[in-house]
This record gives sequence, C-alpha cells and structure tokens, in this order.
Amino acid sequence: MSFIHSNFFRFAFPILLVVILQAGNHNVLLLIESNPGVADTLPYVLFAIALLLCQGFNQGRMGMIAVAMAITYYVIQERLQTPLSVGTTKLEFSLLAFILPVACIIVYAFPEKRFFSRTGVLYTAVLGFMCGWSIFTVHYYQDTGLQSLWDGWLFSVPEISKLPLLVVLYSFFIVCATGIAVLKANRALDVAVYSCLLLSSLTFSMFDQPYISSILFSLAGILLITGVVTTSHELAYVDQLTGIPGRRALETELTHLGKKYSIAMLDVDHFKKFNDTHGHDTGDDVLKLVASKMMQVRGKAKVYRYGGEEFTVLFKGKNAEEAADYLEELRESIADYKMILRNQSSRPKNDKEGTRNRGNAPTTTSVSVTISIGVSDSTEIKTPQKVIKAADEALYRAKKGGRNKVSM
Ligand code: GH3
Ligand code: MG
Ligand code: MG
Repeated sequence: MSFIHSNFFRFAFPILLVVILQAGNHNVLLLIESNPGVADTLPYVLFAIALLLCQGFNQGRMGMIAVAMAITYYVIQERLQTPLSVGTTKLEFSLLAFILPVACIIVYAFPEKRFFSRTGVLYTAVLGFMCGWSIFTVHYYQDTGLQSLWDGWLFSVPEISKLPLLVVLYSFFIVCATGIAVLKANRALDVAVYSCLLLSSLTFSMFDQPYISSILFSLAGILLITGVVTTSHELAYVDQLTGIPGRRALETELTHLGKKYSIAMLDVDHFKKFNDTHGHDTGDDVLKLVASKMMQVRGKAKVYRYGGEEFTVLFKGKNAEEAADYLEELRESIADYKMILRNQSSRPKNDKEGTRNRGNAPTTTSVSVTISIGVSDSTEIKTPQKVIKAADEALYRAKKGGRNKVSM
C-alpha cells in the first residue's frame, strides 16, 4: 500500500490542509474577497459533484455524507451569520453541532447502494425528521426563554469557547473517535466521516473568522470528491478476493519499467482438483493464502493477481537469477504451510447421528498446496509482454518437470 493510501496519511492530511490554509489565511481572504459570490457557492458545487460521482460509482453512503454537509452549510449560511448572542443563534449552533455527527454516524447503518434509490430517500427522510425536530426545539425554547438553557446543562466556559462546554466536549470526542476509526480500519467511509466532522467542528470553533465556513466546507467537498475517486480507483485496480492489485494494475505498471527487471508467473498446482475435492470456498481461501504469502515476498517485489489461480511477481532492477532466490523462498513458504480444514464429511448427516456424535470435537484435516513458478527477465527480451510470455513458457516447463518448482 502506498503512503497516500496509508491510514496515517489519511488521518493527518485534513489537519495538514487546515494548517496550510490557516498559515496562508491572508492570501486566501484576498482571493475570496475578490470574488465573494464564488466562495459562498463553492461548497454547494463541490458537494453536488461529490454526490454525482457517488451515484456514478455506486457509493451512496459517501453521497449521504455530502448531502448532510450541504444541508449543514446551508443552515450556517442562512441562519448562523449573526453573533451568538443574538436571538436563537447560539441554540441553533449547538443543535447543528450536535446533529451533524449523528447524521454522519447513522450512515453506517445503511447498505452500500446508490444514493438515488430507496436507500437515499430513506436517509433524506431521516435528515428531514432531524431538521423538523430542531426547528421544533428552537421554537420551544424561543417561547419559554433561553436563559434556563445557558444556566443549565448548556453552560459555557468562556476561556474555552463561546459555545456550550457540552457541545465542545461532544465534538471533540466524536472527532477523536472517527479519527481512531481511520487509524484502525481506514475504510473510505471512515475517512469521509472523519474529514467532514473534523472540518465542521473546526468551523464551529473558529466561527469568528470571516468566510471560515466557506473555506472549510469547500475543503470538505474536495476531500469527499478525492475520497470517491480514490475508492473507485482502488475498486478497479485491487482484486476483490485477495486484496492485492489485479491485472489492470499490472498492465499499468508494465508501462513504467526501467531497463532491468524480471517477471515471474505463478500458478497453483492441481487447483481444479483441489476445488473439486474441498469446494470452491476453500479454493478461494487458498487463493487468499497464496496472496498473503506473496505480499511477504522479499526483494522489493510487487505482486499481482493475474487472473484465476495465476499470479505475477515483478522485480524492478533485478534479473531472473537475482529474483530466483526470493521466489524459491516463496515457493517453500507456501508448500510448507498447512491449512486447517474443518472436515466436511464429519458433519452429522442427520439429527440422530448429530445427537450420537455430540461431544466429539469436529475432526479437522490439514492440507497443503504447492505452486509452480516461471521467471524471465529483460536481459535479452525487450518488451514486457514478451518477458511475460517467456515466464509463461518457463512456468509450463516447471509444470512438466513435476510442479512445486521454480523454472527460468
Ligand atoms: P495445473 O497444476 O496444471 O495448473 O492444474 P490446475 O488444475 O491448477 O489448472 P487449470 O488451469 O486447469 O485449473 C484452474 C482452476 O482454477 C479452474 C478453476 O476452477 C479454478 N479457479 C479459477 N479462478 C478461481 C477462483 O477465483 N476461485 C476458485 N475457488 N477457483 C478458481
Ligand atoms: Mg492455470
Ligand atoms: Mg493451476
């Protein structure tokens, strides 16, 4: 995984952008003041683009985040441009700071479907309900008096923030929790939720700065768009079953090779028979195992699933002879690995037998698989396609020669 896909980068990137924007705040403001209308509408445009991309790339849940952010920005622009002390501004502020994280977190409860579908309608209805509840709450306290709130559990500590302490702590806690989710799981949705909540919380805490909502919500829009695009890119380039790059990624990499490189083709031995004996699902587990062992291969190799039960290892800057040792190591590590299978045939065939067998631990068997490898390099062959063809021929010889072999 490259650095820009790493969880640390995804965690730190939004913070870094905010720091850069703050450092260049003067220039940003100059730019905005020369076209204020553009700055105000930019977040809407970006969220709309994010939503359309989400629709096209089947990532409805990211689309939901975009919608929630667009509504939040609308509320900020239309309702919250007055000082906190005026009317119900502070209450509306607090409600918004409370509701946006809820709106983002419930997205996890929805299945990954397109936004413009029943799922999106349902989510929009939930948002509508939350807006309705907020309006109701604001009217209620407008009539009964707000002071009771500020004296009660929505008190603020002026040294920390003008917003109620509870809201500040709540935002801080939520941003930390979503940040931890990014560091631990690093799923696209985690990153989207974390970035948006971080930026909205910062907007709330720096509300005195002119145009802060336009700046940070535009940034959120850009991060959402980036998120959708990188996720789609990953879907296209990473093999779903094994989690390693697929054929398309290999084809791209082949156009970025130096003068010296070697390519190895791997094929699981007697895999058809393995599938027939142990079932297709166990076969899939074997492919995952092979891929995970390949990822540990040394020698700065890049690994790919070529298709089916065939894999490719690419060594840049090494000829076949230099690569062979690492490949030999890989072949051995797979051959030595014992996969534990829960014995299918020991499952009770009927209730009666099941009762009789109760208490006996399910029997397990261990199986192992082997792979054959053919490797070739660019010393004499000039195009990557021909190197692959030569590696394939070497692989054929490894199979002929009894399998579980590396052949050059
Ligand atoms: P050899 O040692 O000569 O390579 O024999 P083989 O049986 O491995 O060769 P063959 O190419 O005839 O069989 C490949 C099999 O791989 C056929 C197919 O059922 C299986 N296969 C391909 N893709 C997948 C997959 O994604 N999952 C599973 N479980 N099986 C797959
Ligand atoms: Mg094959
Ligand atoms: Mg095979």
